[in-house]
Amino acid sequence: MAWPILPVLFDSLTAKGKAIRRLWTLGKVILDPGHGGKDPGGKGNQGLIEKEVTLDIARRCEALLNAGGIPALVTRRDDKFLTLGQRTRRANAESGDLFVSIHCNSYKDPMIGGAECYILKPAKSERAIEVAAVENQVVELEREQEQYEALTEENYILLAMATSQYLRDSERWSELVLEELKSTAGIPSRGVDQAGFYVLMGASMPAILLECGYLTNPEDARVLGTERGRQKIAEAIAASIVKMKSEMESASRQ
Ligand SMILES: [Zn+2]
Repeated sequence: MAWPILPVLFDSLTAKGKAIRRLWTLGKVILDPGHGGKDPGGKGNQGLIEKEVTLDIARRCEALLNAGGIPALVTRRDDKFLTLGQRTRRANAESGDLFVSIHCNSYKDPMIGGAECYILKPAKSERAIEVAAVENQVVELEREQEQYEALTEENYILLAMATSQYLRDSERWSELVLEELKSTAGIPSRGVDQAGFYVLMGASMPAILLECGYLTNPEDARVLGTERGRQKIAEAIAASIVKMKSEMESASRQ
């Protein structure tokens, strides 16, 4: 079954074609709080649970964007289990123009901390493969038997064809969001990386997976574990979206 690839190809050939790009303005932003329900995600210091932290950050960011006049939507509003495929299909069904899946990392070494941002491209580092494996693990809990394309070299070529128009924006957005996290929330950047994340696979829009920090790192946990810290992270994500809106809109008018 090839659902993650075909809808993207189709979409890229029709509604978002070049002919209408001159009048383009950024529409809806889809914020995807990682994990939920029976999938808690990672667990860290002071009883922090990834699914709770990501939901709070996403909802705060949604409120900020909507208040600032940028329509935003979360893929889940409460502690609900969603398959990875449902998240992207929702984003496509809502005709989203930007998609961010929000996560927090955990690692056995508490010294490792900082934010990372990922785009969908073949992984080049062991660590990126490891992170993708953790975030993809949830498919084992999915009861309704979603079908995911194996990320073979051939499928990457198909995916690249379908999503190349979004990759540059995804990369740029990744840089911006890491800069904002550093300046607004004080979370250092560990850089932009790439790997095969199923949750990014079907998105027909610029799509990133953000690891806001490490739940297992004492300094990151101090930010992730307080309302004030999560508000700062939400502000950072929102600020990166405001910058993307302005850059993408001015690029479309050239
Ligand atoms: Zn996660």
